[in-house]
Amino acid sequence: MLEINNLSKCFEDLEVLRDVNLTVKKGEVVVIIGPSGSGKSTFLRCINLLEKPTGGEILYMEQDITKMGKKVTDYRKQVGMVFQRFNLFPLKTTLENVMYAPVKLGKVSAKEAKEQALELLRKVGLEHKAESYPSSLSGGQQQRVAIARALAMKPEILLFDEPTSALDPELVGDVLEVMKQLAGEGMTMIVVTHEMGFAKDVADRVIFMDGGYIVEEGAPCDIFTQPKHERTKLFLSRVL
Ligand code: ADP
Ligand code: MG
Repeated sequence: MLEINNLSKCFEDLEVLRDVNLTVKKGEVVVIIGPSGSGKSTFLRCINLLEKPTGGEILYMEQDITKMGKKVTDYRKQVGMVFQRFNLFPLKTTLENVMYAPVKLGKVSAKEAKEQALELLRKVGLEHKAESYPSSLSGGQQQRVAIARALAMKPEILLFDEPTSALDPELVGDVLEVMKQLAGEGMTMIVVTHEMGFAKDVADRVIFMDGGYIVEEGAPCDIFTQPKHERTKLFLSRVL
């Protein structure tokens, strides 16, 4: 589904991504771990072209999206993103937040969008909060609304950038549970997280990034029990 070859990204003379290669198959869950500043967010932002790569190619269904020109808006609709900060519209209800983009883009009628949004809120366990405003929800609930909002665009791939890092510990589980459910339904996901339990349980593959490189990748059982590189060992010894 996604094939990334020799991706690099510089901010002026700071090289943030170097020769990154990654292939993601449909339905795969790839978890990216690594220390702060290693380029994980920049990598996700390049994948949905919030940042323009400096070099390399990103093939989506065999088309290089870095050379797509205007058609890139079509691509962006296929790639949903969930951020650490949920960024819900504060003056819209939960339901309106989830309905907003599909209606705005003319994808569906308001009636259909509402039905679909209610269905998505049910999926994330928040149907009863449809008429509530974000400020009255917990962080975990807001993040689940943000996931429902991303799903409303019917994305082919979902990117998560530390979706639980801003949450109080007791709220993390519900969000991970929703993500786990999506993975079980076959959603293609790339997840940056420090939740090693989630990585062990849900990831098909774990990528360890450091200094803008993919240092090591493999099945979770291999990465966590027998990491090959010293840097991976050191990182895991600190977080596990
Ligand atoms: P991570 O998500 O792994 O913590 P980031 O991708 O956020 O890492 O950042 C990697 C490096 O790129 C850091 O050194 C950061 O300061 C730098 N960086 C990120 N975004 C920008 C930007 N817009 N301009 C300049 N430097 C940036
Ligand atoms: Mg980051």
